Amino acid sequence: MTWHLPGDLVERYAHGRLDSAQVMSVESHLARCPLCRAAVPYEDGWLAASWERIEDLVDRPRPRPVARVLRRVGVPEHVATFLAATPAPARGWLVAVTGVLAFAVAAAHFAARRTPDTANALIPFLAVAPLLPVAGIAMAYGRHVDPVYELQAATPMAGWRALLLRALAVLSCAVALSGAATPLLPGPPGLAAAWLLPALALTAGALALSTRFAPPVSVAVLAIAWFGAVAAGPLLADDRLLAFSPGAQALYGVAAPALVFLIYARRARLDPGGPR
Ligand SMILES: [Zn+2]
Repeated sequence: MTWHLPGDLVERYAHGRLDSAQVMSVESHLARCPLCRAAVPYEDGWLAASWERIEDLVDRPRPRPVARVLRRVGVPEHVATFLAATPAPARGWLVAVTGVLAFAVAAAHFAARRTPDTANALIPFLAVAPLLPVAGIAMAYGRHVDPVYELQAATPMAGWRALLLRALAVLSCAVALSGAATPLLPGPPGLAAAWLLPALALTAGALALSTRFAPPVSVAVLAIAWFGAVAAGPLLADDRLLAFSPGAQALYGVAAPALVFLIYARRARLDPGGPR
């Protein structure tokens, strides 16, 4: 090559003072001429930062949509990534929850149209809704259902923090879905929302029992006890809504924080790799 970029042209190029036609012709020369490339000054810091951005783009796995949404609402990146790695059973559970709620809402409307008594119509919804978050805990965790179980058992996030974090995520989903279904129900909104405190107490109870028994066993025991309590109302006290009465609600309100305290005290035993 006999012609090279004159020094003043290189200088104007480096400072961005050329029009786009000139830039293109300079760059087509630079692409072929190592001598002139070496003459173009560059900033070390700028070059290092550019490389970092490129490496970051190439190396970074595309975050899942759920993780992107969680990041946007302010969840720390490592927590968002962890929560987005939801096992398939948990996704199945989400579909099941939506189906159960849709069925409960439809059934309540159907029953309320036939008899004007909405309280009666709401009982199936009220009985099932508090158990949905709990059922998610049984399905989403443990050696046999969770494909990331081995992964979490070997990480610093393993154990009770991972379990509680996921339980919290599952609970938020179920509460949000049940909450969205509640205004669709016939009757007074106060009664339709009566499932909230029992749901909280049952979830805390499931986690507390999980410190001693396998999650599916804990959840099965609680589900039987809960249905027993709902059925006991009409049988023992001649009150169909005894399990949702103000007295019962106060009981759940006291039980939930007590159970949370118990979970905290026994948190070491929530470790899925630890002793049961
Ligand atoms: Zn040249």
